[in-house]
Order: sequence, then C-alpha cells, then structure tokens
Amino acid sequence: MKSLYIRIVVTFIVIAMVSSILALLLSNVYYLNKLQAYNDKKIMNIGKEIRGLYELNPNLDLDRYLTSIGSMGFQIYMVNERLEGTFYGAPFKHVQIDPEHIRSVLKGGIYNGIMEQRHFLKVTGIFENSIRNSVGLPLNVQGQAYALFVRPNLEQQIGEVRILLALLLGVTFLISIVLIVILTRYIVKPVQQLTAATNKIVGGDYDIEMDVSRQDEIGNLARHFALMAQSLKRLDDMRQEFVANVSHEIQSPLTSIHGFAQSIVDQEATPEEQERYIRIIAEESSRLSALSKQLLTLAALDKEASVMKRTSYRLDEQLRNSLIVTEWQWMEKGLSVEPDLPEIVIHADPQLLVQVWLNLITNSIKFSRPGGTISISIAVERDIAVTIKDTGIGIPASELPYIFDRFYKADKARSRTHSGSGLGLAIAKKIVELHGGTIAVRSEAGKGSEFTVRLPHL
Ligand code: ADP
Repeated sequence: MKSLYIRIVVTFIVIAMVSSILALLLSNVYYLNKLQAYNDKKIMNIGKEIRGLYELNPNLDLDRYLTSIGSMGFQIYMVNERLEGTFYGAPFKHVQIDPEHIRSVLKGGIYNGIMEQRHFLKVTGIFENSIRNSVGLPLNVQGQAYALFVRPNLEQQIGEVRILLALLLGVTFLISIVLIVILTRYIVKPVQQLTAATNKIVGGDYDIEMDVSRQDEIGNLARHFALMAQSLKRLDDMRQEFVANVSHEIQSPLTSIHGFAQSIVDQEATPEEQERYIRIIAEESSRLSALSKQLLTLAALDKEASVMKRTSYRLDEQLRNSLIVTEWQWMEKGLSVEPDLPEIVIHADPQLLVQVWLNLITNSIKFSRPGGTISISIAVERDIAVTIKDTGIGIPASELPYIFDRFYKADKARSRTHSGSGLGLAIAKKIVELHGGTIAVRSEAGKGSEFTVRLPHL
C-alpha cells in the first residue's frame, strides 16, 4: 500500500521537476524572442569595437593586441587566407566550424553564429564553447584579408554567477524536499489519528481523543468526527438501555406467569386461588402481547415514511369512534366526557393516528379519579389542534420533560397499579412527528393534564 505520506512527497518532487522543465521551456521562448538577437548584436558590436580599435591604430602589434583582448575575457580565432588560424584568450572547447563560413568572412561577409539554431533548447546554446558559436567579421591587416571570430568567454566572465545560480536552484530544491518530508508528517498525522480513532470505534470504544483545535479542513473533519463518535456513543447507550428496558418489561410478567403456572401445576393452591392465578396469567400474557405489538409498531415507525399511508378522512369522526371504543372504560370509572368536535377533513394515515388518540384517551382515563371529566376538542387555526384534557392526577413538573421518552413511567411506585409499558407516548410522538406535527403537554400534579396535538393542514 502506498501511504499518503509517500504520495505527497512524490507528488511534490514531480511538481518541482515538471515546473523546472516548464520554466526552462518558457525561458527558451523568451530567449528566442527577446534575448537572442540582442545578444548577437551585442557580441557583434564588441567584435566591431575590437576591429575598429585596430584599424585606428594599424601600427599596433596585432598579436599582442589580440592577446590582451583575449585576457579581458574573450575567445578569439583569427584565420588567414590560407585558412590557417590562431587562437587568443581561453581555448575553445570545440573548434569545429564550416570552412565555407570562414571563406565567406574572408571575402568580406559577416558570420552570425549566435543566431543559428543548433540546440533544441537554444537558451543552453549560449554556453556552447565553440568557434561556430561566435560572430565572425573580416579584418584587413596590411593588405591581407583575415577572418576574425569573437565570442565572450562566459566561463571566465560570469563563471561564478553560474555557480551561484546553480547553487541557488539546487539548494532551494533540496531544502524544499527536506521541508516537504518534514511538513507532510504534520499533514498526514491527523489522518493517521483519524484512522486509529475509527478502529477504536469499530472495536466499540467511543472515547477518542483528537486534536480538534486546527482551523482547517482537517480540523473540521476531526471536529465532525468527534461529534459523530459522540452521537454513535449516544445511540449505542440508547440501544443498550432499550434492550435492558425491553428485557425488564418482559422479565416481570414472565416471572409471575411462571410462578403462578408452577403453583397450579404443583396443585398447591386452592380452587379459588387457582382461578385468581389463571386470571393473573391471562392479564400478564395480554400485557406481554400488547408490549410486543408496541415494540413492533416502534420498529416499523423507526423506518419512517415507508410506513405512512395517507388518505383524506373526517378527523372528528375518528375521534368520536375512539371515544366509543373506550366507552366501557370511562363509563366503568364514572367519568364524564365532553366532546367538542367540529367537522374537519384531514389528510393523514388513519391507522397510525388512531393509535395516538387511543393512547391519549386511555391515559386520561387511567390517570383520572372516578367522577372526573375528560374533554376532547378540535380547534382549526393555522394548523389542526386536537386537545385531550383530564382532571386526573396530573404529572409533576420534574417528570414532564421525560414522559415522551421510551419506557418512561412517571411516579414509578404509582404506575405499578397502571399496567403501562411507558411506550405509548413515545409511539404517539413518533407518529405525530411523521405527520409533520407536534405534541405538547401542560399538566399540574393533582389538577389534571392537557395534551395538544398539532397537525399541519395538507
Ligand atoms: P404508559 O403505557 O405507562 O401509560 P405512556 O408513554 O403512555 O406510558 O405514558 C408515560 C407516563 O406519562 C405514564 O406512565 C404516566 O406517568 C404519564 N402520563 C401520561 N398521560 C398522563 C395523564 N393523562 N395524566 C397523568 N399522567 C400521565
């Protein structure tokens, strides 16, 4: 596996190389367009100066004159009509030149070797140390024709500049490679930390430590990752709590069913006791069956919209039906019911919403004192508000924030008498939220509770 670290370092080196090549090509274009002709003209002028000075003083010792010019940083090649040449200044590395060029200069022509394209990269040709890379001009020495080839000895003139330039480029390249090797670690380290953190999470350990102080994309990623780990931990805690709650809710009815059934099997109980035990077994098993139904509903609702089947129907009729279905319960407790249900059509899933109404109504009945009142009303405002109000035992303020939580039963000691699972309101809330609505409660201990469900018009 190629590590990110190696990739970044290699990418940097490739970038540095490609940009050097591009820079060379660009400077070549610049040289061809701007500098080549200028350079040629400059050297030609120097050649003319050398010749001109001699022509002004024809009595000069030409040999000594050219030797001093050569020692000033020029390479000179002087050829006579018999094509015999003499060198002055530093020797040429390459001495090749087409004799045709020499003849043409001897005849009075001019040779522009600087302008000739011999290298793919012309700019490197500047440094070509050869006779052909020079300017040639005719020189008359006491009636004899000579050809004078001149070239600045760049090695002598700007040798140290070349070394400096090469050093500058090389050292810059080296230092940047060293820096990239060191700094890439700084970039790659948080990614390695993230990988380690991911492995910890996979192993079920959500307590991860990460540097979330960086103000860049990697810092952002680390912050989001830390948040994700927290929410995964919350989910995992919730799941564990849920399983513990479910097991607990199943365990107690099973224990009593087992106990009572065993004493019937052992024939330890009197016939009256046996009858009571069988009734308890029947009650407990129906509680278990109700619980499993609720759990299935929750599981289905957690899959969200897939379970919604909306139709348009009369909400007031559905609420009236719910009151009829529960009539024997509120009649038995001697409660009076006050419905205020104007006609209204709603677009919702009737199978789901009826569970909300039945839960709220049975809760009101369950937590009402005999002789109390339950009022149920619809108010159509910006949305459709259904209010179910009782004059029952109410809910203490400290418990109110939790009553919609799964398995939450307010006042544990008391709720043992009300055989609930604590899932009803959680299911109701989920259903209302799936419909895009809200559920709210107002309650005062000892006075009664009021649940309001708001559903949007569709
Ligand atoms: P349960 O199945 O126990 O009724 P719910 O989720 O429906 O579960 O209700 C959760 C808790 O909220 C109940 O145990 C009860 O303590 C409280 N509660 C709900 N409705 C009322 C009400 N109308 N009056 C008083 N307490 C209520």
